[in-house]
Amino acid sequence: MSQNPVIDSQRLTLMLNELRLPAIKQMWSDFAVRSDREGWPAARFLAALTEHELAERDRRRMERHLSEARLPPGKTLDGFDFNAVPMISRAQVMAMCAGDGWLENGANLMLFGPPGGGKSHLAAAIGLALVEKGWRVLFTRTSDLVQKLQVARRELALEAALARLDKYHLLILDDLAYITKDQAETSVLFELISARYERRSTLITANQPFGEWGKIFPDPAMTLAAADRLVHHATIFEMNVESYRRRTATATIWSGTPTNLRNQEIRRRKLQRQSNRAARPNLGLANDNLAHQNPNYRVNLLSS
Ligand code: ADP
Ligand code: MG
Repeated sequence: MSQNPVIDSQRLTLMLNELRLPAIKQMWSDFAVRSDREGWPAARFLAALTEHELAERDRRRMERHLSEARLPPGKTLDGFDFNAVPMISRAQVMAMCAGDGWLENGANLMLFGPPGGGKSHLAAAIGLALVEKGWRVLFTRTSDLVQKLQVARRELALEAALARLDKYHLLILDDLAYITKDQAETSVLFELISARYERRSTLITANQPFGEWGKIFPDPAMTLAAADRLVHHATIFEMNVESYRRRTATATIWSGTPTNLRNQEIRRRKLQRQSNRAARPNLGLANDNLAHQNPNYRVNLLSS
């Protein structure tokens, strides 16, 4: 190639810009040098550049999808302790993370359970895994999205706003139950659920499985209709576990306890020996034995 008539590299750069091929624009000259040096056939040179452009395009798309997904940072499947939620099958979650078989049918996923049980973490981790597989996801607090949709309704643009959400294969509505009263008085949430029904998937996290939903929708008929549409094709995980935060906090305290207890006990015995020596040794020994026979002994130690 180097023996070829001079290539106008400035013009080539312009053409690659025009064709929107930034990876080739950046790499072609290095590749050309290597290709000339190693005597690549022209087809290999072209294929190598094209492959780089495609790989770079995939990477950029993933980056875009990741940033538009607004996932809370650091919530991954690797960081999720499945032992803490024994009622959830890791294998089932992993299968769902491929996305096939439910996202193309617009099926839903619902995570119920008390605060701190890992609903938002698991929802975000599933969202991240799906983005990595090439699906488009949006994670939002339900009340934030409802607020935006209410504004759109006032501006007579609700339909367009709902249509814009269609590009997301999965819409994660975090904390459905935290909708405020004025938000519940409009039916935008119901319209969102209806618009996605059997077409696009929704993942919902909520503290209450349906019981409290009367507060989320304008009237009982709409509550029933919304729940009906959501559960029609849905996987439901009930994460009825103690708060992970509280549990790990307790674990930290308890992991320090044996040493504390041992130290307290050593101190107590030392003090007792000193006071026994000062008073009557036999009585001291009897007291010591009594202390060990007392079933409340450990309890007393714990509460002291
Ligand atoms: P919820 O949404 O159910 O109220 P979160 O997902 O916000 O609970 O969990 C509370 C905190 O505990 C978060 O920091 C989360 O990362 C962590 N957490 C909860 N469950 C787990 C788990 N099973 N493994 C690892 N971290 C967890
Ligand atoms: Mg949460």
